[in-house]
Amino acid sequence: MSPFVVKFIGLLTTILLLLQSAFIFPSPNKEKTDFEQCKNVIFMIGDGMGFNSIAKTKAETGASLVMDTFEIRGESRTASANSVITDSAAGGTALATGFRTFNGAIGVFMGDKNHVVSHPMNLTELAISQGKPAGVITTDSTAGATPGSFSAHTSDRDNESDITAQQLAGDLTLCWGTTAGSFTSEAAEEYGWTHIYNKETMDALTEGSRSFGQFTSSLWHVDNGSNMPTLAEMTEKAIDLLDDDEDGFFLMVEGAHIDKNSHDKNGEGMKDALLSFDAAIATALEYAKADGETLVVITADHETGGIILVNGEYKYTSGGHTGTNVPLLVYGCENFLEGEISIPNIEVARRVACAMGEENFPIRVDVIS
Ligand SMILES: [Zn+2]
Repeated sequence: MSPFVVKFIGLLTTILLLLQSAFIFPSPNKEKTDFEQCKNVIFMIGDGMGFNSIAKTKAETGASLVMDTFEIRGESRTASANSVITDSAAGGTALATGFRTFNGAIGVFMGDKNHVVSHPMNLTELAISQGKPAGVITTDSTAGATPGSFSAHTSDRDNESDITAQQLAGDLTLCWGTTAGSFTSEAAEEYGWTHIYNKETMDALTEGSRSFGQFTSSLWHVDNGSNMPTLAEMTEKAIDLLDDDEDGFFLMVEGAHIDKNSHDKNGEGMKDALLSFDAAIATALEYAKADGETLVVITADHETGGIILVNGEYKYTSGGHTGTNVPLLVYGCENFLEGEISIPNIEVARRVACAMGEENFPIRVDVIS
C-alpha cells in the first residue's frame, strides 16, 4: 500500500472512531479512577450466566454456591455496539478491552474491523505490558470467542485459524482449552510452548514454562477415568504457575458451557456447568483470601435461554441470548461498585484496569505508525 493510501485510511478511521465514540456509542466514563489497587487479577466469565441460571441451579439442586458469598454485588449491562443482545465475541471484547464492538467481532473497532490502523488493547496485553504474566483458560476451544477476546484481534469469531495463530505468536504464559482446529504441536514448539493435552501433562508443568493446552475431551463435565482436568483443577494449577512473579499476574477463566447447554435448553447440563464454574470460583476465592492482594471479578458476557420463573419453576423461553443484565460479583476491591446497581460491560474492563494501576484504559493501540 502506498504511504498516501495508508495515511488516508488512517485519517478516515480516526474520523470514524471519533464519531463512534463521541456520538453514537457510549464511551467509558474516565472520571472515576481511584479504585483500590491490586497486584493480581482473576477475571471469571460464566458464559451465558444470568441471574436465573443461578436461581434455577440453586432451586433444583439445593446447592449452596460460593458465588453467593461475594459481598460486592451488582450487575453488568451487556449490549454490544450494534445490538441490545450481544454475542460472546462482542461481549468478551467489551469485558476484555473496554470498547463495544459489533456482534461476531473480536478485539477490533467497528470503524476499523480489519485493524489496518489500530485495535483496542485487551487486559492480558495490559498485564503483560506491566510485566505480569497472563493466562487464559476455558472449558471451550482455545479459539472460542471469549478466550479469543482476551488474546486476539479479528473481525470474525469463526476465523479460528487466525485466533490460534495470534495466540501461538503472542505473549501469554498459558492458554488452555479444548482443541482448536488449526493448532499443531510443531507450531507450538516453534514458538516455545509446552503442548499439554490431559490432566497428567498439565500437572507435570513447572514454573517458568509457557503452556498451550489442547485438551481432547470435555472439561466442564469430567468423567471418571478420562484424565481430563476439571475447570477448578485448571484454575488451581494456572494460579500456581502464574503467581511467582513479583509484579503479579492476570488470569481469565471461562466457564463456557452454561451458554452452550442453555442454547439446547438443556437445564441438567447447564446446572452441571454452572456448578463446575462455581467450583473454579471457590478455588480462586480461596487463593485471593489467603493472598490478600488479588482482585476476583465474576460476571457473564450475556444471559442465554431467557430463563424465567413460571408457577414456581424456572423455564427456558429461548434457545438464544437475551439482553438482560447479568451478575457482577467482586472480591478484593472494596470500592469497585460504590453503591451502583449496574454498570456497562465496558466499565467493568475499565475498572479492572484502574485497579491494575492503569487510569487511561481503554487504550487504542496503533497498528501502523
Ligand atoms: Zn451463546
